[in-house]
Amino acid sequence: MPRTWTCPYWVREEKRCIVCQAAQLRFTDRTAFAEFAGRYCSSVSGWRDCTLARFCTEQYEKSTSTEEYR
Ligand code: SF4
Repeated sequence: MPRTWTCPYWVREEKRCIVCQAAQLRFTDRTAFAEFAGRYCSSVSGWRDCTLARFCTEQYEKSTSTEEYR
């Protein structure tokens, strides 16, 4: 069954690799890949706990608040 990626910063999946707007994560095995993806990238609420996602959100919020003053 195909995985549903819920994190808004996710870009694509490659073999044992997750590419997102913050990083390219390479896993040594499919189990670690599936565990991480299930806990964060494809979890409806879990992606918000990912440090990389939090950083992306902070950057997005900074850029949108900065643009209000331009
Ligand atoms: S949950 Fe984290 S690692 Fe996964 S796609 Fe989002 S930002 Fe990237």
